[in-house]
Amino acid sequence: MKAAVVYQKNDIRISEVPLPRAGRGEVIVKVRASGICATDVKILSGAGIPADLPAILGHEVAGTILELGPGTDEAGLRVGQRVAVYPIAACGKCIYCRQGRNSLCLSEHGLGHGDDGGFAEYVRIPAEVVRLGGVIDIGDMPFDLAAMIEPTSCCIAAAEQCGTKAGDTVVVVGVGPLGLLHTVVSTALGADVVCVDVNEERLAKARGLGAKRAVNPEKEDAAEVVRGMTGVGADVVIAAVGIPQVMESYLPLVRNAGVFNIFGGTPRGETMTVDPRWIHYGEIVLTGTFASSVGQFHRAFSFVSEHAEEIEAVISTRCGLDDILGAVQRVQRGQGTKSVLLFPE
Ligand SMILES: [Zn+2]
Ligand SMILES: [Zn+2]
Repeated sequence: MKAAVVYQKNDIRISEVPLPRAGRGEVIVKVRASGICATDVKILSGAGIPADLPAILGHEVAGTILELGPGTDEAGLRVGQRVAVYPIAACGKCIYCRQGRNSLCLSEHGLGHGDDGGFAEYVRIPAEVVRLGGVIDIGDMPFDLAAMIEPTSCCIAAAEQCGTKAGDTVVVVGVGPLGLLHTVVSTALGADVVCVDVNEERLAKARGLGAKRAVNPEKEDAAEVVRGMTGVGADVVIAAVGIPQVMESYLPLVRNAGVFNIFGGTPRGETMTVDPRWIHYGEIVLTGTFASSVGQFHRAFSFVSEHAEEIEAVISTRCGLDDILGAVQRVQRGQGTKSVLLFPE
């Protein structure tokens, strides 16, 4: 089969590799759509290159079931079924899994992270994912939309972590594809969303997706805009950027007893400064969200079904596996929003 194989930093090539077979408890999915995540691009550019190379990235996968391994009878799956795949092979037994926090699993691995991922014609789904109920039936949902379930689940995870509710003011810092999905999710929860980005095209998109205000900090002071809306600060600030200094500069936008969520991954070794007096006297909640749980993945499927039009609008580029390098470069240059690889039937 054809796959986009990472050989080393900045070296990804379309190669012919053996077709995976389903071992005990495993499932083989014929990939039909695979989303390109900022995390993949970060990995490809050298920040956290996988330990075991060559590797196949891609953790936002939808397709059809090609093969069911022995011991999957209980999973309720069938060959040819249209599915989306939760990418984390969480154990289901450790302290975190028992709390429903699979992204913190003590023995975590998964698609594009220890296991070959979805930038390939076929992908082997680990037995843990099957056991968790992480291979879900998508009915007649289009595959490109189904590839958006995973990134949407991360935004739902953040909203749950922040306790976002109707009437809240939510500031989303950084309006890339995930910032746009945060806008859709928080707006659906009944919050007033303020998006902040220097990219006017993305701000326009955020407005179209329901943002109450879209602020370009080069032209307007976001803190003033928020104070003008609430009289204090924001109930929730989601930092969907990967730069600690930018995150730091938006800390003051949270009101007392509000929640600041570090959503974007940042480069190793880079730090930000937080005044403990601000947390103490302001009773600020400082939190982070990484990936999602299998439960949030299921909720994301329902959410994407109900908000298909908005989620669809976040996708800017659909291309084939052969175009993956161009798609990665577009993400690096900040062009477009979400890129999804599509595979023929
Ligand atoms: Zn991702
Ligand atoms: Zn676990």
